[in-house]
Amino acid sequence: MIDNLNKSQYEAVTSTEGPVLIIAGPGSGKTKTLVERTVYLLSKKNVKPENIFLSTFTEKAASELISRISEKLKENNLNINLSEMYIGTLHSIFRRIIEENIESSTFYDNFKVLDDTEQLFFIYTKISYFKKLSGYNDFFKNIPCRNTWEKSKKILQWLDTLNEYGKNLKDIKTQNPSILFLKEAQQVYKNLLVDNNVIDFSTIQAELLEILVNNKNILDELNEKFRYIMIDEYQDTNNIQEKIIFLLGYKYKNICVVGDDDQAIYRFRGATTKNILKFPKRFDDNKCKHITLDTNYRSQLDIVRLCNTWISMLHWNGYRYEKTMYSTENKSISPTASVIRIGGENESSWKENLYKFIKTLYTTKKITDYSQVAFLFKSVQIQQVKELKKYFEERQIPVYSPRSKDFFEKEEIIITIASLLVYFPQTKYLVFDKVKNRTNEVFFYYQFCLENLKKIIKKDEKFYQWIVEKRKENAKENIETFPNLKTIFYSFLQFDTFKKYLNLDNNLEHEKRETHNLAIFTDILDKYESLTKISQISSENINTYLKYFFMNYIRQLREKRVDEFENKDNFPTGAIPFLTFHQSKGLEFPVVIVDSLYSIPQPQIKTYEDELKNLLNLNDNFEPHDKKPYFDLWRLYYTAFSRAQDLLVLTSIENKNGRKRLPSQTFAPLFYRAPDWQDSKNFELKYLNISPTKESNIKKYLSYSSNITLYEFCPLKYQFIKEFDFKQNKNTDTLYGIFFHKVIEKIHKYIIKHKEIPNELKIKNIVDKIVKTMHTTYQIEFEESSICKIYNSINKYLNFINPSEILASEFKVYSIEDGYILEGIFDLIRKKDNSYELIDFKSGKYSEYFIQSYKKQLALYSYLIKNEYNLPNIKTYLYFEEEENPFFEVKITEKDIENEITNFNLTADKLLNNNFPPKPFDEKCNKCDFRWFCNSRKGEM
Ligand code: SF4
Repeated sequence: MIDNLNKSQYEAVTSTEGPVLIIAGPGSGKTKTLVERTVYLLSKKNVKPENIFLSTFTEKAASELISRISEKLKENNLNINLSEMYIGTLHSIFRRIIEENIESSTFYDNFKVLDDTEQLFFIYTKISYFKKLSGYNDFFKNIPCRNTWEKSKKILQWLDTLNEYGKNLKDIKTQNPSILFLKEAQQVYKNLLVDNNVIDFSTIQAELLEILVNNKNILDELNEKFRYIMIDEYQDTNNIQEKIIFLLGYKYKNICVVGDDDQAIYRFRGATTKNILKFPKRFDDNKCKHITLDTNYRSQLDIVRLCNTWISMLHWNGYRYEKTMYSTENKSISPTASVIRIGGENESSWKENLYKFIKTLYTTKKITDYSQVAFLFKSVQIQQVKELKKYFEERQIPVYSPRSKDFFEKEEIIITIASLLVYFPQTKYLVFDKVKNRTNEVFFYYQFCLENLKKIIKKDEKFYQWIVEKRKENAKENIETFPNLKTIFYSFLQFDTFKKYLNLDNNLEHEKRETHNLAIFTDILDKYESLTKISQISSENINTYLKYFFMNYIRQLREKRVDEFENKDNFPTGAIPFLTFHQSKGLEFPVVIVDSLYSIPQPQIKTYEDELKNLLNLNDNFEPHDKKPYFDLWRLYYTAFSRAQDLLVLTSIENKNGRKRLPSQTFAPLFYRAPDWQDSKNFELKYLNISPTKESNIKKYLSYSSNITLYEFCPLKYQFIKEFDFKQNKNTDTLYGIFFHKVIEKIHKYIIKHKEIPNELKIKNIVDKIVKTMHTTYQIEFEESSICKIYNSINKYLNFINPSEILASEFKVYSIEDGYILEGIFDLIRKKDNSYELIDFKSGKYSEYFIQSYKKQLALYSYLIKNEYNLPNIKTYLYFEEEENPFFEVKITEKDIENEITNFNLTADKLLNNNFPPKPFDEKCNKCDFRWFCNSRKGEM
């Protein structure tokens, strides 16, 4: 079963008992080792999936692990339901543990996780709570910030830092006004989060730590559960994560951490190398096994050598696990250099040289796709990088640079914003009031947007007429309500001005950039609705609504700078990726061109905030202060250099004499040691073999309810929603159904946990919390009649329940199919007599109309449960809330299952092959957000 492993990898896979430290150098087969180790635990050691905790750094890496482990299990005919395993990023696993123990949390079910932007706006909109705190003025006297936005950012940074160190200040005794402010701010912030049932990433960690520390029973249970813990990228973990990992693995101590201290690059986010460097010392003498994976399967010998040379240039004084990486035998002899340099006396010759080099690779067919070459920079936002990008694009070399942070400078976004400004005549005095707003930089941005629209709209008479008409209508005094911003945006899509940004038929990912950006804009609008909790614009709130939208929300987002769409699964083919060093972590490319060779280690000046951190013990003082800039710089460039497979190019403008030496003294020796790209003696293109770009082997998850039904309804709508992620308007017709489902789910979970039916008070508690959550998430207030209906439905349903029969609720099952992972979530599984019953709950009455669709869903569920668990006597039911006899048995035969799997495969095949034709436009389109677009295209389709 364990094939193709080298000696160290084999040892890493089979050393399962006790603590293990695996130092895995670049390209050393770390993912493969983790996959084999997990499969070994499941198959050879018969460990149950729920006893394994496996975390990695990104969602993408987690998906890859799941896909590869599933494939491996399938190859070996092992039916193991991986959804029971705790696998994902640390945040996602921590969140799952909180959700499973929600009764011991201060938050309640279905809390929403705020991303960075939402978290900042959350604080910004609640700043008045912080202003009231006694130390507020003192705090900002010592840490000057220009405005409320900056102050919000500062508060956020401090709250995150406190969480990252697992520091709760509630019991701290101090006279220091800044610390007093932070102590109160921490409490105020937590209360605000709880009140709104929202949580941010750093609070997820703090919340879990609190649950573990305060609930011995839960800790004991989890200690028993997590028999095998594996943490990937351990060098980039922070203090609180380490605390939690050690608490969870306390009993069995089968903690295996994997990483490479040479690639520790997240100190600025609170990560500390202490975790990996001190890991063995956390256990009694010699208990921790130390394994080094030092064979590099990725890179050519020259590249491996350069990385070894670079990292050993520093004196690490014990702050590094000494290791030398070795190349594999088949890569040891290359007839030409694999590390070269491309320079240029000035910016223009440097750009030209790079262009010529890439063109040569392409015209000589050394590369067949531009995505085989990646440029890596310290930052992609600096002018020089933007100029290089422009230079390539003007010469028809597409560039993919999602983190350039110029989202608001893109034409499609400028035109959308301008159209919204024109649509509302109110913006004349809310936004374009020169006296009030001209000192605000965004005022000029909006003027710029309008000027651009003016130029474009000349060519689109229809749009011009329409928007002038709307503007007139919206100026009328008797108008009571206005459509929401998303609806207005979707109505723009009927016009040529916007249609040209929707690249729906193009298969080249980089050509879909504009469409992706518009989808991101709908997300921005969606978040604005949840932030303001206003889904309906009325004549009463319109001024506040628009003023806040343009003068605060969009303004701040523009200053914060939004990333363009980033395809997390795969970089688009046909374009050269321009990436930051951090973004390239964990990736590899056939040709890597490393720029930013201007860096030098910058000594850090101690600030008031550093002093404050020292007082609170929040500084990572593990490595000497003066050494940190050196260590960080060396690790960062080591990570960048080691991404290259076949060719590493060092590039820099060459300025040997000026004030600013380029490349810097740090990099000059390395740069000039590499042969120049035109040095034909040492670098001969004909000998160069460049590998193709590796295709991602991450499989998509497909389920009947969220993929197949939508695709079968309308493939085009599927493309908008699932492929581009356009945010829809909420369909209020289905909100009662969601409410009903959530209550039923919660009742089941209660019964499973407590083995009894909840009493009246408990039920009230459940309903109240869900009403509150629904309000936060969907801005809906349920009428009394709907709440009464829910109570009646629950009371009726409870008559049918026997707690001992209930096995699982909201139970996820996967099945690995060719090309995708089939996913099903069961509302309820119960065991009655000798049968296993799968029950799906529907709000409303029995409907013959939908029964065929429900039957298909149940057929797939039967397939999943048979496939994964091999259970005998499976019965399938639908439960209709409004029926007197609510249980309807739906008989599923083997033939039904076979037919349904065939249908599923056919549909999956179409959607995985990007086949998204629209359905005929009919009355079912009336509620669809894309109706304006489709209606206007009727003649074209
Ligand atoms: S309007 Fe109709 S055809 Fe267009 S995406 Fe929506 S459902 Fe499909």
